[in-house]
Amino acid sequence: MNNILNDNISLQKSHTCKNQYFPVLEWVITEKCNYNCLHCIYAADYTLSAKEWTLNEAKKLLDEAQQYGIHALTITGGEPLLHKYFFEIAESICQRNMIIQELHTNGQFISQSTLNCLKETGCCPLIKISFDGIDCHDWLRNQEGAQRETLRTIQLCVENGFRVNVLTNVHRRNIKTILSTAQLLAEIGVHKMHVVRTMESSRWMKTAGSACLEAEEYYACMLEFIHQYIKSGHTMEVDIHQIISLLPKLKKYHIAYSEYQNSEYASASFNHKRILLAADGNVFSCYPVFNAKDGKYFLGNAKTEGLHVALEREKNLSYTISPDYWLFFEKRYCNRLEKLLYNWQKLN
Ligand code: SF4
Repeated sequence: MNNILNDNISLQKSHTCKNQYFPVLEWVITEKCNYNCLHCIYAADYTLSAKEWTLNEAKKLLDEAQQYGIHALTITGGEPLLHKYFFEIAESICQRNMIIQELHTNGQFISQSTLNCLKETGCCPLIKISFDGIDCHDWLRNQEGAQRETLRTIQLCVENGFRVNVLTNVHRRNIKTILSTAQLLAEIGVHKMHVVRTMESSRWMKTAGSACLEAEEYYACMLEFIHQYIKSGHTMEVDIHQIISLLPKLKKYHIAYSEYQNSEYASASFNHKRILLAADGNVFSCYPVFNAKDGKYFLGNAKTEGLHVALEREKNLSYTISPDYWLFFEKRYCNRLEKLLYNWQKLN
């Protein structure tokens, strides 16, 4: 009896670590990218100044992250598959009993052999691929043939059993085709489409500023999109930044305002409950492309100070809702959305 008890106790021994808040790290392993997208600070135009993690730095970071209680990573870039040691880094993650929860990619380097290698390392991440809409993808990605390639990649990943999410930038040039894009993605087996308003980064304002949707325009267009999408009867999940997560299969939804009520450590921007680790080691409490360059969300440097030092600082930050997002409530888009979804749930 004693032995059984002792065995049970040892099986249930808990692993304690100091980190209470951040189980997931979003990690930019390289800033290099093969694409030269019109809106991106990691576009190929900036290759000469692009930073990345060396294999040694990466292994040291993973040791620290493991000790600190981080158990899942999102690998992103730049284009992460351009990193010379991508598969060694992936293997190092798995060897430490952590998982690659998501791999963010433009998809151009994904082939059958890439997917086989991923499976061999023991990784089956959710693959998040950028696709910016029918007849608009080549323009935004600044690359002829990108649409054809990206759709091919999405299909290949789905056929290989990977869960695929798609990230779509929305702006004036593709707003008219956003519904047909969603329908196409649903038909080829995409699990979830994330829609984000292309925001006013300095590169985007230079390359295509007039295409930028104002915040209110975005809310109005997205309400109409949600209306049409639920009428179409497709079951792919849709997540619209700052507005809603829609789960048509379950006939459920989650309006974004509850993030602010429930998440003590939610950031006011992209990455709720996520910490972003940049290619130069800087740690941000928010996606850096649009916000963190001003230093507001900067927590420290994982290469020079250690990851845990930066993460400890996050606990002392407070957040405010951005003025753009406040319009969602003030102009009653939120109420209109609730009414629309109430009617949807009543059908059936
Ligand atoms: S948006 Fe993605 S694919 Fe385009 S340049 Fe930036 S990192 Fe590369």
